[in-house]
Amino acid sequence: MLPLQPYGPLAAIIGDKPLPRTEVTSRVWAYIKKNRLQDRRNARMINSDAKLRDLSRQDQFDMFELTRLINRYLRHVDDTSSPAADSSDDELRAADEEPTADPDELDLRVRRLRKRAVETQPPGSKQPVRVETTTSAYVRDPAVKAWVLENANGKCELCLQPAPFTDAQGFPFLEVHHVTMLADGGADTISNAAALCPNCHRRLHFANDCTAAAATLRRRLQRLR
Ligand SMILES: [Zn+2]
Ligand SMILES: [Zn+2]
Repeated sequence: MLPLQPYGPLAAIIGDKPLPRTEVTSRVWAYIKKNRLQDRRNARMINSDAKLRDLSRQDQFDMFELTRLINRYLRHVDDTSSPAADSSDDELRAADEEPTADPDELDLRVRRLRKRAVETQPPGSKQPVRVETTTSAYVRDPAVKAWVLENANGKCELCLQPAPFTDAQGFPFLEVHHVTMLADGGADTISNAAALCPNCHRRLHFANDCTAAAATLRRRLQRLR
């Protein structure tokens, strides 16, 4: 991959040596982790320290915004006159329309495309390319998941409504959510897990009121305290 030159607030974080884009991203993440700037309650949010505030101009920002923020302060090495972020609107749009196998990058591009007018029906891809990716996962305890689901007795523990449907094995369909996410150091125990309907589960992960919803869940369930 072509190395890009970090400058301005980005260079203050990762240095001004030209690096491939992936390396730039992983160094910014290393900085965020090292300085514990990922929000403890909502892991999608990054809390700015002085350097990140220079980069983002916000006290807190969504991790999905990170690529866009980084792009502002990267330019091509041989091209000192024009920052990479100064590409024309058409070029930016074309870049956002490129297919990607990275789910975070996909969501980011979707968000940016939605902010523009969508004029034409996209052709899509009849045969999407399949790629190998590496993921890591936590080893989880089936007994904990089974207990939480059985204990919920077919009702969502947040909205208290019955599961929206029965699965192919005849069980009421609920999902088990870790209140403090495993990625944030949460435990895989019944005191950190709740059975939720898919809507409430997505809400806890993605809604703008997810912190309030999590607080309601904690209030409701004794065992989470
Ligand atoms: Zn629910
Ligand atoms: Zn969850």
